[in-house]
Amino acid sequence: MSKTTKTRIKNIQVWPVNISITEPFTISKGEMKMAENIFVRITLTTGTHGYGEIAPFPALTNETQDNCLAMAKSLLSELVGLDVLEYRAISAQFETPLALYPSVRCGLETAVLDALCREIGIPLWALWGGAAVKEYETDITIPIRTVSETLTIARDWYQQGFRIFKLKVGEKIEDDIETLSAFDNAFDDISLIVDANQGYSVKEARLVAQKLESLHARIITFEQPVDRHDIAGMADITKQTSIPIAADESVFTVEDARRVIKERAANLINLKITKSGLFPTVDIVTLCHANNMPLMIGGMLETRIAMGCSFSLVLGLGGITILDLDTPLLMADDPLQLGGYSYKGSRLVPWRSAGLGLVPREEPEN
Ligand SMILES: [Mg+2]
Repeated sequence: MSKTTKTRIKNIQVWPVNISITEPFTISKGEMKMAENIFVRITLTTGTHGYGEIAPFPALTNETQDNCLAMAKSLLSELVGLDVLEYRAISAQFETPLALYPSVRCGLETAVLDALCREIGIPLWALWGGAAVKEYETDITIPIRTVSETLTIARDWYQQGFRIFKLKVGEKIEDDIETLSAFDNAFDDISLIVDANQGYSVKEARLVAQKLESLHARIITFEQPVDRHDIAGMADITKQTSIPIAADESVFTVEDARRVIKERAANLINLKITKSGLFPTVDIVTLCHANNMPLMIGGMLETRIAMGCSFSLVLGLGGITILDLDTPLLMADDPLQLGGYSYKGSRLVPWRSAGLGLVPREEPEN
């Protein structure tokens, strides 16, 4: 019997998980009231489990819970028998079939690594190098709302200790300018991330950048002001403002990141494992570190499985300084048992148990 037999995949299951969002999640490209995700569980020959999460965000990609579930199910039989020690080879094997399904790729990759790390008894961040293991502060996202609703939601989070706010904008510029002024007047010790999700023209984005320059609040970044394909527009805005511009939707792949760096189309890049896949994200980090490109990390509407995997990159790879890892806080309940990383107000606390340290509260029998 080969030594590696025990790290082979014996069985893999996927099932839908729906979680209500306490405040409908409205951005310039659509609205979601429910996270419609999918959990993945890999079982090794030893019986060790590994979990992953597929978190499609139909407003930004063509992925839905239904098409992701069908795609994942179509690949399960090919995964059985593979050795999780060869995790990058497994990932490469599914690169082409999953080219248009980055969240499925992410979910499968996460489950493979979680199983491996549980089998060998190390936390996932240790596999990446354990470069910067400590507590981190996350922002909290405020969806697009009226000015008074925005302030009410923000005051509630402020009282819970949150000081970094991410304002979603990009639907109507006049309303956004009004919201930004009101927000700046209402709080005097906060930092802001402003995310347009591609909602503006270049001209509008310039006006908003000027507005941001005039505020008292520290502006951490102005994210994806214009259409993801308008790299020249992104570069123009980046050149013309002192506000750091972040590329989010403009960077899905490593090639996208290379282009943004080359064209100076942003001051930083926003990573998301569900938009790029897990290993492409790692490759984007490597590229950005080599080019002194600062990094932030966010997510779609994710539970602590996908978000814990993102946090593992922060802890393990280091150099990812801005965290937008708040979506489990926006959910009405937590479908996972205690364990894994935890929230202490606005801070994410690392875990030390194996893998992601997380187990769903409900899962299929075998
Ligand atoms: Mg964004």
